[in-house]
Amino acid sequence: MIPETSYSSTRVESFQLNGGLTVTVPMPADPKHGVPFHSNNEAMGEQNEDEWHSLVHARFGVVSGIYVALRAKHPPAAAHSLRVAFWTSAWAMQHGLREDQQQLLEVVALLHEVGKIGVPDRVLQKPERLNETEQSLMDMHTQVGIEILRSSGASKELLVAITGIGTNYESANDRASLDIAAIASRLVNIVDAYDSMTSKQLYRESLSREAALAELLRMAGTQFDQKLVWSFAEIVIAHDRALQARVAERWISELEKQDVGRFFDFDDHHPSSRVGSSIIHSLNDTFYRHMMDHIDNGVIFIDSEYRVLDWNRSAARITGRSAESVQHQAWTPEIAGLCDTEGVPLSEVHCPFRSLMTNGTAGKQRLAVRTPTSTLVQVSIDVVPVANEHGIRRGGAIILEDVSETAELERKIVHLRERACQDQLTKVANRGELNRQLPEFVSYHQRSRQPGSVIICDIDFFKKINDKFSHQAGDEALIIFAKLLKDSCRETDFVARYGGEEFVILCSQCDLAEAKSLGETIRKKLKQTPLAILRNQCMTASFGVATINPEDTEESVLGRADRGLLIAKENGRDRVVSLGDKERKALNKTLRTPKGWFHWFSSAQEQTTRCELLTNVPRAVTLEKLKGFVRDFKAAVHEVSQESVILDLNFKTAPIPKLKDERMGKYRMTIKLAEMEMAPSGNKEHTKVCTLLNVEIAPLGNRDRRSDSQRSQSQRIKTELQGFLVANEMDEEIRSKVLRKIKNEAEAR
Ligand code: GH3
Ligand code: MG
Ligand code: MG
Repeated sequence: MIPETSYSSTRVESFQLNGGLTVTVPMPADPKHGVPFHSNNEAMGEQNEDEWHSLVHARFGVVSGIYVALRAKHPPAAAHSLRVAFWTSAWAMQHGLREDQQQLLEVVALLHEVGKIGVPDRVLQKPERLNETEQSLMDMHTQVGIEILRSSGASKELLVAITGIGTNYESANDRASLDIAAIASRLVNIVDAYDSMTSKQLYRESLSREAALAELLRMAGTQFDQKLVWSFAEIVIAHDRALQARVAERWISELEKQDVGRFFDFDDHHPSSRVGSSIIHSLNDTFYRHMMDHIDNGVIFIDSEYRVLDWNRSAARITGRSAESVQHQAWTPEIAGLCDTEGVPLSEVHCPFRSLMTNGTAGKQRLAVRTPTSTLVQVSIDVVPVANEHGIRRGGAIILEDVSETAELERKIVHLRERACQDQLTKVANRGELNRQLPEFVSYHQRSRQPGSVIICDIDFFKKINDKFSHQAGDEALIIFAKLLKDSCRETDFVARYGGEEFVILCSQCDLAEAKSLGETIRKKLKQTPLAILRNQCMTASFGVATINPEDTEESVLGRADRGLLIAKENGRDRVVSLGDKERKALNKTLRTPKGWFHWFSSAQEQTTRCELLTNVPRAVTLEKLKGFVRDFKAAVHEVSQESVILDLNFKTAPIPKLKDERMGKYRMTIKLAEMEMAPSGNKEHTKVCTLLNVEIAPLGNRDRRSDSQRSQSQRIKTELQGFLVANEMDEEIRSKVLRKIKNEAEAR
């Protein structure tokens, strides 16, 4: 006969689940009866509380015996039950259930498979899927469990809950309000399925957390209570470490009361302190001990006297130190082999447990454990305070999570990132990374109005080094050069290989003079360093330097530095040329006068696609024609004046013949214009006002002087422009005529 439970005639109370479900829970008339086992009213009669406790204890003793039997019979079933109890406990805690309700859920979860004691070993341990007969034997376990529990004097509540576990949600009588037993069966049903799916079975691999949740959600509404699935899924998805720690802490503090009472001023005879934890007391040796040993995280419990009171199986696995070797010893970070992530042993002052005890700071941190075999295991450490009955801190628990897999993954990600951003030969940043950094570098210095400069450098006659000493020696030379650049720069500077033997340095908080001086320092050092791979000869390099102006774009500042480099090359190499504001303005000024034209022809010429054109019409007409070109070629006008026009042109959208599989780029076309009266035909009587055009076509953004494709595109743009303006390229004859005229005019002035 099932004894009547003290829950039967009770008031009700509601609580709200996250999913919006209001659950009505029957409350015991007397809170002392908040244990899920019938307290045998008849037997209790007028007995005093102590006698009542011992009765409860005796009954639980039976159940804890049953649990131990299950563990002996089939350890995986016991371990599974503990995990289900852990999740269930987490759910109950998350939803603020009362202590007695929470205990009912835990015990239902813990005992939901005790019936397996009655299932033959050959069925329980069969490594394949069960056949029909075996399955029916297995299915009997619920019934066997109920019989065992019934004969142990389990309350009706517990029996109802356990009986309800296998029931399909659909076939159950769905009610708006559920009693705690119904919640227990429905919840354990869900958690049971979840744990089975996520655990490796003899006949199949485990499912991922996501796949298991997807399956639960698929069956929500038919096999499982939909709202409970959602609210359980929320807990799993949140993967709330704080909640897990609270569950662990709850169980640990219960353990503390039982196991370590002598270390605390806990009054073991105080009736109120016994009621809430009577189950825990009686199950201590099984439930809590095995729970501790079945959680994946290491748990180390330390009292306020710094004595190690508990050290679970996972703590032993992670630290490589057995519980026996540390139990009751004085806690130091050393006894767990705690180190920082690099493996440097943790000093007493940095001990997380000490911080908790001395200034109350607890929290998660990344550390490592050095095992006795010297392996470094990366761990995440959480320290939670454990208080006694009266809220006084009595110690703490260190929760260790083995994160070596995550750490390894992080290491791989860092490595991959490095590979993606680094030049493999020289180990400085690669061009892609420069392209990513440069815009931010320019805009940061413009926003903050701090000086910022760019240095571009190129090893002189590098081809000869390759030819004379081998390509391998050339590679070595590149590595040495890159290292010299890195070593000469500050931490905040950025060094990238731009391509071949060309490097770029972004110098933060550095004006033109400082950048030039840095370039000079590197240049001199290089020149004075004999290299063994070059049979003790030295290399030299040329440098171009520019500083960021408010109106600069990343292309314009890099372009200016590049122009400096080209001038350095043209003027004999092994030098630093900076193009600052002054030089820039001076350059613009000279270009506006015929003198400037002379400068054009006489100064060092750049290697970019450029040409000198001549039209037989005045500047105003040429500019009109240019307007037509802008329209037809969909060019963007970047800058326009009487002396110069700057256009941005996308080769892709321009009506220019394209080659098959051609990668098309964007170009900046800088056209400088000047008028000149001359006789194109050579007849001095027939002079005309002509327009001289100096055209420069440079790739925008992805600038690469080596690219043949870009050169060919620039060439085609030039031909189109020429056709549009009906302009002739100056041949040597016209060119010398122009030069002569400029010279004469200059002398006349
Ligand atoms: P300049 O002084 O005008 O810069 O002359 P240079 O010979 O240094 O310049 P050029 O651009 O004519 O030649 C560069 C050479 O660099 C050509 C190319 O074979 C070589 N090079 C490019 N990348 C590497 C590399 O990774 N390793 C080696 N060993 N050589 C490279
Ligand atoms: Mg070179
Ligand atoms: Mg070069």
